Amino acid sequence: MMTNRFQHIFDAQKANQFTVGNTTYKTRIAKLNALKHAIEVDFKQDIRDAIYADFKKPFLETDLTEIYPILGEIKHVKSELKSWMGRQKVSTPMSLIGASSWFTYEPKGVCLIIAPWNFPLNLTFGPLVSAIAAGNTAILKPSELTPHTSKVMGDIIAKLFPENEIALVQGEVEVSTALLELPFNHIFFTGSPQVGKVVMKAASKHLTSVTLELGGKSPTIIDETANLKDAATRIAWGKFVNNGQTCIAPDYVLIHERVKDEFLKAFKTVVNSYYGTDASQSKSYSRIVNDRHFKRLQDHIENAKEHHATIELGGQVQVSENFIEPTVISNLPEDTSLLEDEIFGPILPIKTYTHIQEAIDYINAKEKPLALYMYSKNKKQTQFVLNNTRAGSTCINTNVLQYSNHNLPFGGSNNSGIGKAHGIFGFQEFSNMRSVLKQHTRGAIELLFPPYTDFKQKL
Ligand code: NAD
Repeated sequence: MMTNRFQHIFDAQKANQFTVGNTTYKTRIAKLNALKHAIEVDFKQDIRDAIYADFKKPFLETDLTEIYPILGEIKHVKSELKSWMGRQKVSTPMSLIGASSWFTYEPKGVCLIIAPWNFPLNLTFGPLVSAIAAGNTAILKPSELTPHTSKVMGDIIAKLFPENEIALVQGEVEVSTALLELPFNHIFFTGSPQVGKVVMKAASKHLTSVTLELGGKSPTIIDETANLKDAATRIAWGKFVNNGQTCIAPDYVLIHERVKDEFLKAFKTVVNSYYGTDASQSKSYSRIVNDRHFKRLQDHIENAKEHHATIELGGQVQVSENFIEPTVISNLPEDTSLLEDEIFGPILPIKTYTHIQEAIDYINAKEKPLALYMYSKNKKQTQFVLNNTRAGSTCINTNVLQYSNHNLPFGGSNNSGIGKAHGIFGFQEFSNMRSVLKQHTRGAIELLFPPYTDFKQKL
């Protein structure tokens, strides 16, 4: 059999796993501080330049959506890690009298982190923070679609860590495939549901545990009581930040028919105020990551036009620039690609409903979403939607911001993911909860042992 090209890194990390795993709280904090300093100071401008080179993302947007979330995650982990690493005492039932019980979070061992391109730094280093906090070694495989950012991340990792602790390898599908053959102790994958299935299948060969942070269509409901101006300002930001290439972006809007026109009017005003009348000239508007994804989105617009849908806003593209205008489309027939596939770009389909149950049925007929958003002033109706739908997360009267609260678990359900990221939840994904029961005394416990005398049976 051919030797796996990454076997030597894997073996070196495996040999080192107890040294890394037995590090103290202070050592792990020192590693996180070093990572923080690299991101915040030494490599900050390199990161901004690289992400701009990859898809023209404005520096401020990179700070807000790539750099600050990682710094925030590190800060949060630093404040909590000591208690997470300690013994987690639990009570012991009377029947086990004389014993005490606890569990600890022990490192899983050698981990693999596979990341997508859409937030290349955030979604590679975010899981890494959890992996380091939990005392693991890790191999990182960022996306091949953001080569500039992958190069900077590789430089950071090579500067801060020996290869037998953290290593970053670059490459396309065949690199992932080779890595997936190795018997990792945990795989943390962020990407599409299709590739998530490939990862889970490969993991099953070694019974490797997985965290799958996947995608799909995240619906937004706007009911007849919603504040439409607020909804417009928040949805326009949530949809067009990162040029719509966000896993928890509002994918499509389901709006009560009575308020559709007023919402659209407000939405157009907001988009104009954010990006001007010509978004291609805006310094606040990113681009689509590559030609393939540009073509995919262009086809969506063409497909909608062929089906005589209404282009409410935008619809123009510039091939040379991978530029797609902020676009809103209504009156889409159900079999159009925009209503079937995850959009992952700056196109917002809008559909009307007359009764809230229709919106709920529409959502429930599709895969469970990663996020579901609800704009309403009606608490009862909001709760009704929460009770009768399923989703990885929900924001009420806003969107996307659930990602920024480290106290909330972040992840999907079934087709949108397995397992959770951020804070304690990320730490838990990279840990095994190891139970310990310690017997302190002789006595009652011995009544369990043979021989099973008449006396013992009568007890
Ligand atoms: P992708 O699934 O195509 O690729 C993700 C990673 O897997 C990349 O590193 C890629 O090289 C690798 N890969 C691709 N094909 C592979 C294969 N056959 N075998 C093994 N590895 C393979 O996803 P993408 O296009 O980079 O990202 C977009 C998707 O990610 C969207 O569906 C989006 O919703 C989802 N996403 C989810 C989250 C989340 O946190 N839940 C965050 C960002 C993106």
